[in-house]
Amino acid sequence: MNFLSEKARTLSPYTAGEQLADKRYVKLNTNENPYPPSPRVGELLRAYDPAALKLYPSPEADALREQIALTEGVGKENVFCGNGSDEVLFLSFAAFFDGTRPVCFADITYSFYEVYANFFGVPVNIAPLKADFSMDLQGMARRDCAGYYIANPNAPTGAGVPLAEMERFIASVPEKLVVADEAYMDFYGESCASLVGKYENLLVMKTFSKSYSLAGIRCGYALGSVKLAEGLRRMKDCMNSYPVDSLCQAVCACALRDRMYHDKTVALVVAERERVRAELLALGFTVPESKANFLFAGRGKKSGEEIYRRLKEEGVLVRFWNKPLLRDFCRITVGTREENDFLLQKLKKILS
Ligand code: PMP
Repeated sequence: MNFLSEKARTLSPYTAGEQLADKRYVKLNTNENPYPPSPRVGELLRAYDPAALKLYPSPEADALREQIALTEGVGKENVFCGNGSDEVLFLSFAAFFDGTRPVCFADITYSFYEVYANFFGVPVNIAPLKADFSMDLQGMARRDCAGYYIANPNAPTGAGVPLAEMERFIASVPEKLVVADEAYMDFYGESCASLVGKYENLLVMKTFSKSYSLAGIRCGYALGSVKLAEGLRRMKDCMNSYPVDSLCQAVCACALRDRMYHDKTVALVVAERERVRAELLALGFTVPESKANFLFAGRGKKSGEEIYRRLKEEGVLVRFWNKPLLRDFCRITVGTREENDFLLQKLKKILS
């Protein structure tokens, strides 16, 4: 007997980065923040009353949404929270797209968009990046589709679209939904959040996984018009009424309140990103300018696969995809100064 549905048998799932436990690695493969979350999160966890866990959490993450609204300068009714921005992305496909018209995204971008489109039977219209890895927004605006997924900064290239350019694009496609996936935006500072009240066709997505160092707690959110937030809520309630647990809500609200710590660790990552990029260029790699917390390095003296494999032997994990447009490159997350020095030392050894 085969009990699997056709979907379970035939869809290609997303492949997450390796989480290996066979030895200690310098882990630069899944764009985690190298710094711990705000020390206030530690204080909160130590003082947390486990008795609070006997109750279901606030289904709409009320207190957290209030804190997000304050931080982002939008209304609480414009905020929707989910179990990681991956879940919010998933729900956005259910809420805004169907099989009748395609969604458009770049040929090199976050690979979950295609997985979700296939899951929901939404056709895709794939737009090639320009030769310098930048997004061809004008070309995309002309494509026939119901909406767009724009990772800004893009993954795995790190390329960023300035806010003014994003606004021109959003204004030029008023009948299409633009989902701006800003998972890495805090390392860039050109967020579309300020446009949320102005454009009905804009949905901004953010996460606590990167700049807040909370990938382990799984929380992401969307900012959009009341109608868009309502669409996401309706789909959430068709799937899971309480996706964001109480501890997660408390931890994320706490991290949001410590802006100083957030901004300090973001600045450290950005400074290291620029230093490591200069070093990688000096080693002969092509490295597009990155606005995120990772670098896309390749076309050097060794293939992407060899760099990935040899670094792994040397105790450094980076991300490699054996796919036509990506296999010349590796994506390297920016670590602490010590981790980056270790990476650079191993790269020099491999290339010599
Ligand atoms: N968007 C992009 C572009 C990403 O790279 C990631 C992280 N893999 C996500 C969204 C999802 O992040 P999370 O589910 O941890 O919030």
